[in-house]
Amino acid sequence: MEFKLFNTLTRKEEVIHAMDGEKFRFYCCGPTVYGPAHIGNFRTFVVQDCFRRVVEAIGIATRHVRNITDVDDKTIRDSQQAGQSLAEFTRHWREQFESDCEALNLLLPHVVPSAVEHIPEQIALIEVLLQKGLAYQGDDGSVYFRIRAFAGYGKLSGLKMEANRSNADQRLNAADEYDKENVSDFALWKAWRAEDGENRWESPWGLGRPGWHIECSAMSMRYLGQSFDLHSGGIDLIFPHHENEIAQSEGATGEPFSRHWFHVAHLRVEDRKMSKSLGNLHTLESIIDWGYQAMDLRYVLLSGHYRQPLNFKRHSLDGARTALQRFKRLAGALPTVSNAPVNQRQWGPFQAVIEALCDDLNTARALGELHTAAGQLEKALKGAGLSPESAQAAADGLANAMIAFGFDFERVSIDGEATKAVEIPAAILTLVKEREAARNARDWFRADSLRDALHAEGWTVEDTPTGPQPKRQ
Ligand code: AMP
Ligand code: ZN
Repeated sequence: MEFKLFNTLTRKEEVIHAMDGEKFRFYCCGPTVYGPAHIGNFRTFVVQDCFRRVVEAIGIATRHVRNITDVDDKTIRDSQQAGQSLAEFTRHWREQFESDCEALNLLLPHVVPSAVEHIPEQIALIEVLLQKGLAYQGDDGSVYFRIRAFAGYGKLSGLKMEANRSNADQRLNAADEYDKENVSDFALWKAWRAEDGENRWESPWGLGRPGWHIECSAMSMRYLGQSFDLHSGGIDLIFPHHENEIAQSEGATGEPFSRHWFHVAHLRVEDRKMSKSLGNLHTLESIIDWGYQAMDLRYVLLSGHYRQPLNFKRHSLDGARTALQRFKRLAGALPTVSNAPVNQRQWGPFQAVIEALCDDLNTARALGELHTAAGQLEKALKGAGLSPESAQAAADGLANAMIAFGFDFERVSIDGEATKAVEIPAAILTLVKEREAARNARDWFRADSLRDALHAEGWTVEDTPTGPQPKRQ
């Protein structure tokens, strides 16, 4: 089976294959560990994980590297505010990230390198750039990349240097505020400043620390080679981060860097951009606190196509839970899965699921196909039943589809009422009580308008013999 994926660099869909004929080598920009990752970050990480699972499902082995950014302005600032060393502070948030990834059933990358652990590699790369005239030391002691000396600058983001110069300058300047020969140039090495405290490393240019972009060039090439198959991140990384990575890497080696670029569109929350000021930077912990499970979040994060923004709505977690329980019940009604490798890449009635996944990772369509196939099987099981062969093919196909999506039934509870209970907000309970009072007073007009108000909040009320029961729509 062929897996076609959109390439940001060439702006077309291309068939995935391992350049070296053995392993598909790919790099994902990882988290900056200065706080918990939010569900937007996890959209990107979950989509990347599903991508890897599909590559492996069609029989291509992978080598996956995802870094940890453990030194930058934010990690330094916040570790100081917390009164901890940078190492102590970032270790805590790194562990939190790893435990969230585990809960979300993300496959462990083969290598998880951190910036602080790779200072020598970054220094070596900067030295090459200086030798080639692609970098220079500024008056402040910092080392900068000379954008004008790299002809391919802008090829990923489609940035026309002259036309968009002021826009580009603004964005680059926002990232670092040091003296520069040319306003667009970005820092490779940042000279030590008092506010950096003890966070400094020796280099041929004096004490300082690496700029952000250089770590990903140094670590991806260290573990994947100068040229590799794919590089990925959220769309916000296309410019300047990935554009700068290409300039640094190709400038230093003269070889093509990553062949394929894979970018995930952003998650929005209740129709709004995620931001600290809006207070909507939900984390996995928030989801668990609301009474859901990590698998419910994983389902929601895969419910839209990765190239479209996805609008997160809290109540969509209910639909996710119902869907996962449906698949788990179906698996329970089917025979035990055959042992690997017998069943490997057997899709049976779930063939359309893998086809949708291989069509530019169309997880939205694949989930639709999953429900269609599940519906047909449920009908067959209720009716005439399935032949032993068909039942086995269905069991194996469903298991493989679940592996491709990364849904783990062990983490989906069907009977656990305690975790299933959805908490009812106080404001909703008040509306329900007011509606009941209006009904008792035979004020139908008021009762109806209160019901409409509940609908607007995403709730319905069922009038049961034991009283009104609010339910999520
Ligand atoms: P950071 O920890 O900020 O470096 O981000 C980690 C990853 O999450 C990067 O690939 C970002 O592009 C991605 N990211 C950040 N915000 C969002 C969002 N709202 N939706 C999807 N991905 C995001
Ligand atoms: Zn990166």
